[in-house]
Amino acid sequence: MSHTIVNIGYRSTNYWVVSAGSSRLLVDIGWPGTMGMMRANLNRMGVPIQEIRYALATHYHIDHAGLAQEFKYAGVPLLVLDVQFHAIPVMKTWTKQSDGYVEITTHDNVTISASESRLVLARIGIGGEILHTPGHSNDSVSLLLDDGAAFTGDLPPEALAGDNVVALASWRLLRDHGATRIYPAHGPVRQIDPEPPGGELV
Ligand SMILES: [Zn+2]
Repeated sequence: MSHTIVNIGYRSTNYWVVSAGSSRLLVDIGWPGTMGMMRANLNRMGVPIQEIRYALATHYHIDHAGLAQEFKYAGVPLLVLDVQFHAIPVMKTWTKQSDGYVEITTHDNVTISASESRLVLARIGIGGEILHTPGHSNDSVSLLLDDGAAFTGDLPPEALAGDNVVALASWRLLRDHGATRIYPAHGPVRQIDPEPPGGELV
């Protein structure tokens, strides 16, 4: 299966749309209170919101999942890994009223395990899996496509710092599963290192 990847990000944060034809997956879900900007960027990049089959947050920090509930209101189901479930209610403690954050309900999401992810993605035409990749936060996950593209959220700076053993283990997991190109939540796309700094220590 082949995919196209576009970045609809803003405010120094990347939001990736992975498409298999007109079947699409959104990876990371905007800042709170920015649904207008998000919709404008989707329009500009030619992504109809009704073609987005799921939204997936790499982790539940406000710049990565701030619009999750509004996407649900727009008809886009929220795909949650079981390891993320308990991080969702904590989101509201990092926002103030003026941010316009709409609290994410937890009873109406599509909650799956990492081992179920390949089948769920295959049903929307996307070849890949979702891996639990803690290190930046315990609820951090990465989308890894079968062509080697890995959507890692905020893992790279943690893994590349070299002293976060949990992040290094996640980086190694991604490499061992075939990741070659990193699509981070901030900054440019990069190749994965053959060995992470300090990787021989773990
Ligand atoms: Zn974060």
